[in-house]
Amino acid sequence: MKITQVSIEVLETPVTLEYVAAGNAVSSNWHVLARIDTDEGIQGIGFAVATRGGLVRPLAQTAAELGQELIGMNVLEVEAAQEKLARAGGWVGPGGMVTMATCTLDIAMWDAAGKSLGQPLYRMLGGHRNRIRAYASDAMWYSMPHEALQQSARYHVSQGYDKLKLRLGHEPTPAGEVARVEAVREAVGPDVQIMVDATETWDRIRAVAAGKALQDAGIVWLEDPLSHQDLSGLADLCRRLDIPVAGGEHLYGLDPFQKTFDAGALDIAIIDLARAGGITPWMKIAAAAEARGVPICGHVIPEVHVHLLSAIPNGYLVEYMPRSEPIFKTRLALEDGCLVAPEAPGLGVELDEEAVERYRVA
Ligand SMILES: [Mg+2]
Repeated sequence: MKITQVSIEVLETPVTLEYVAAGNAVSSNWHVLARIDTDEGIQGIGFAVATRGGLVRPLAQTAAELGQELIGMNVLEVEAAQEKLARAGGWVGPGGMVTMATCTLDIAMWDAAGKSLGQPLYRMLGGHRNRIRAYASDAMWYSMPHEALQQSARYHVSQGYDKLKLRLGHEPTPAGEVARVEAVREAVGPDVQIMVDATETWDRIRAVAAGKALQDAGIVWLEDPLSHQDLSGLADLCRRLDIPVAGGEHLYGLDPFQKTFDAGALDIAIIDLARAGGITPWMKIAAAAEARGVPICGHVIPEVHVHLLSAIPNGYLVEYMPRSEPIFKTRLALEDGCLVAPEAPGLGVELDEEAVERYRVA
């Protein structure tokens, strides 16, 4: 099945109502949407999501330029496409626009391949199971006062989530960080698991103090306590804490993950699909983690990650962040705390073309 056309759109999408209701100042998300058309009339879609509009236009332009390289290729030739796109991008990477643009095209090839074979992506990639345990993290930002955090936490639990993640790192003391966790705990009760993401805001000394205080407060993982480049600091923290240290969303490609794994600098790996360069390299990172006994999570994009994490044996948790719901006709189903991978072929999600038309800005 040959690729006949590649087109790229930029969509400015509204944040969800829940997000706005929680008092968040961000008013839009941006999607770079790739469509790959084939000589069999099948169309595959891929996308990347950003929270800054100024950054997605050069990304879209890069994807549009690189996409022309795929004309005439078979949609199943994802490895050949990866190499061709890296070459066409001047081998700038892994990292930056070329890697992220490649991601949108790679997802669209996999979606088209799934539609061509009549199989959902999770099964094409291994089919370890058809669902994955989920946590909610939307509208749980460090900028929010305790009451707004509690409101978001209660909302997520009312929707069926039993695991939540909030961002930390902007409080002047470890006690201030702990108070945010305790506020969420007060709102949701003892049975909900709470993770925290420090978004690389601490130095080593602060990370140890805050990490121990948060551990005592009952969190189940500490994410990105230090810079992702401070491998020895992260490894030291992994040894000092009893709770797992999670990280990886800022790493580009397989090699930085291998170095991080070999340094013992994380206990749980979080892969960002765009920085990985798409599904094809994502699966290799997941396999490298499997060989070292490291569980995998995905960074946002639940519509794709529900498939990837369900497909592999070391899939751990999927992050529910509904940034793309405004452009799709259906929502992922949540059953007993798990997001369920759709059975429809490919990604199994259908674009709402009226919404795409409404939100298209380029
Ligand atoms: Mg994070």
